[in-house]
Amino acid sequence: MNLILLFKADYIDPHRVRLGDRRMTHIKKVHRARSGDLLTVGLVNGKMGTARVLEIAPDYVEMAVHLDKAPPEPLPLTLVLALPRPKMLRRIFQTVASLGVKEMYLINTWRVEKAFWSSALLEPVSIEKELILGLEQSRDTLMPRVHVRRLFKPFVTEELPGISRGKMALTAHPSPWDVCPRQISRPCVLAMGPEGGFIEREVDSLVDIGFKTINLGDRILRLETAVPYIISRLY
Ligand code: SAH
Repeated sequence: MNLILLFKADYIDPHRVRLGDRRMTHIKKVHRARSGDLLTVGLVNGKMGTARVLEIAPDYVEMAVHLDKAPPEPLPLTLVLALPRPKMLRRIFQTVASLGVKEMYLINTWRVEKAFWSSALLEPVSIEKELILGLEQSRDTLMPRVHVRRLFKPFVTEELPGISRGKMALTAHPSPWDVCPRQISRPCVLAMGPEGGFIEREVDSLVDIGFKTINLGDRILRLETAVPYIISRLY
């Protein structure tokens, strides 16, 4: 935890917070903080700054907060991911939050296993829990927005054209065609497939709305590897 993420509910007056959950445990056990110490904090969807430890009690920590810095610039990337298995999804939530992605769509495709849709990890509170870990890791406060879309066709024909308008639109698919561009430094929407990959009909639907199919080289990467690889290549 390189930044302690604060929420409005933590405030007991305009400049003081009281924490009693895992953040308290972390402050005590990992930071080994004492009264007077300064810690890096940020308010969710707000500014970052420092907090001076005022009191360390058995069941809470109280700190005086001073927020004066803007969080890092968001990455201008919208990720559209075929729903991965829960174990992988958990890591992907943390990774994308750390890398600065702020918009993410989880979609169904032909080769997504139906059982993945009943995972408890798709509950908004579970999603937020993983995203918080990613933000705390990278020192950011802007909470990514995760949208869940269970129907491929209506999403791709009715919603995705609006999302991708004016942006570079790419489908990552192991194909003999073009290699993924580098350093595009402009807004991009990137679609990535499930473990079994997109089926050709899905790639064609994306082509129909202006998505360009690109590959990442001869090696087939796991989604959790492909995501950071492609992000560092694009930006
Ligand atoms: N077995 C699948 C690959 C699935 S990997 C197939 O052969 O199509 C999961 C997703 O990661 C893919 O759908 C794609 O979006 C992305 N990916 C992984 N390696 C890739 C590569 N070398 N080129 C393009 N996309 C890749």
